[in-house]
Amino acid sequence: MMELGALVCTPRNPRCDVCPLKGRCVARKENKTERIPALAKRAAAIKRRFFGFAILWRGNVFVQRRPSGVVNAGYWEFPNWEVAADAEPAALAKGNLSLGQAEPAPLCVVNHSITRYRNRLEMFVIRPARKPHLAKLEGEWLPLAKLDEIPLTAAHRKAATRLRDADER
Ligand code: SF4
Repeated sequence: MMELGALVCTPRNPRCDVCPLKGRCVARKENKTERIPALAKRAAAIKRRFFGFAILWRGNVFVQRRPSGVVNAGYWEFPNWEVAADAEPAALAKGNLSLGQAEPAPLCVVNHSITRYRNRLEMFVIRPARKPHLAKLEGEWLPLAKLDEIPLTAAHRKAATRLRDADER
């Protein structure tokens, strides 16, 4: 039966002429082979927007580990948040990072998909004048050169590469 579905009764181009079931097939009898079975509709893609921040302090960058029970659990990433279409990075840096003085500088945009989500990660670099106290965040300061040694999520790996390139210029 599986071979029949794979080789003969394919959804887009059923080969009714060679089908062993053609005598009993209701779809064929009713001339509905184009419509039966109805193909499952693909789930609509959902766009999501994130702001991420590479906070640099004396050659170190702040990274966080993703908690268990979420996608990419255990991987590392830069602090990031899902944001609304009208969000401003400076306002987020002030509210979530308590970095009101430092102006986030655009680093790069990474588009990536996870299942039906089309994610746009907009990355910014922040170089605070004083060592920031990121009391609201759990994470670690890591020497920039060691970013290559930890497992980052694919999107944040791309951002890390851009960060390193920008830092070497
Ligand atoms: S006869 Fe029916 S079961 Fe056979 S290939 Fe055509 S539609 Fe499929």
